[in-house]
Amino acid sequence: MPTVESLETRLAALAQSPRLRARIFAHVTYSDAHFPLWVFEWGDSSLPVVIIQAGVHGDESGGIEAALRLLETLAEGASPLRQHRLIVIPCANPSGFADKTRVNRAGQDINRQFHADMTQESAAIRRLLAPQAAAVVIELHTDSHTPGFYLFELRQKGQGSLGQVILAKLTKRGYPVEQEPFFGGYTGERGLFAPNAEELTEFQGRVPGRTLVEWVMAQGVPRAYSLEAPTLETSERSAAMHVTALFALFEALEGLAS
Ligand SMILES: [Zn+2]
Repeated sequence: MPTVESLETRLAALAQSPRLRARIFAHVTYSDAHFPLWVFEWGDSSLPVVIIQAGVHGDESGGIEAALRLLETLAEGASPLRQHRLIVIPCANPSGFADKTRVNRAGQDINRQFHADMTQESAAIRRLLAPQAAAVVIELHTDSHTPGFYLFELRQKGQGSLGQVILAKLTKRGYPVEQEPFFGGYTGERGLFAPNAEELTEFQGRVPGRTLVEWVMAQGVPRAYSLEAPTLETSERSAAMHVTALFALFEALEGLAS
C-alpha cells in the first residue's frame, strides 16, 4: 500500500522518465499544508487522449496504486496503446490520501463536485482537462461494500459497449466480479452498470453534483468509465484488478480505432 513518502518517491522517480511528461499542474492549499497535484502524459500528442484519474477519494489507495503501476509500466517501455495517448492524474485528493480519508482536508467529498469549481481539487482538474477533447475518461475507485469488481459505463448514442469485455478479462484472470444487479437505482448485469440517458437523468435528479465522468459526458466525450475494485485487506489485489481492467479496455479501444 503506498504511503505518503513512497507516493512522493515514486512520483519523483516517474517524473525523471524520458518516456513520460510530468508536471505539477496545481497546488491545493490548506491552512497547515499544501499538496501538489501531479499529471503525467504519455504518447504522441497528436493522438486522441484517454484520461485516467485515481484517488479522488483519498482512502481508496487501490486506484492510486494502479495508476502508479500503469505509469511505472509505461516508464519501463510498455506500449499498451498505439492509436491513443494517455493523461494520468494518479492522486486527485492528496490531502485525503495523507489523512487516509475519503474527503479532502476541508472535509469535502470531491467526487461529486465536478459540475463547477466547488473544491480546489475539482477546480484545478476542470481547468486542466477542459481543453482536452478526450476519447475516453476513466476514474479508478475502490468500494469496501462489495466482494467483486464492477463498473459504470457511460456512452453517447451510437457508441458500443465495452464493459463486458473488461469484466470477462477479470473473470478469466480469476478475479471476482460483482453479481448483485443493483446500484443507486440502476440495474446492472454481472458487474456492468450502463445507464441510458433517461436513467442517468433520473439518477442525477436525485443525487446532486456531478462526478468527473458525468461532467465530461455533458461536454460530449464519447465514453467514460468508473471502475470499482473491491477494497481488500491490501491495496495490491485491488490495484492488480484495476490494471487488468485498464489493459483490457485499452485493447478494446485499440480494436475500435483500427
Ligand atoms: Zn471512490
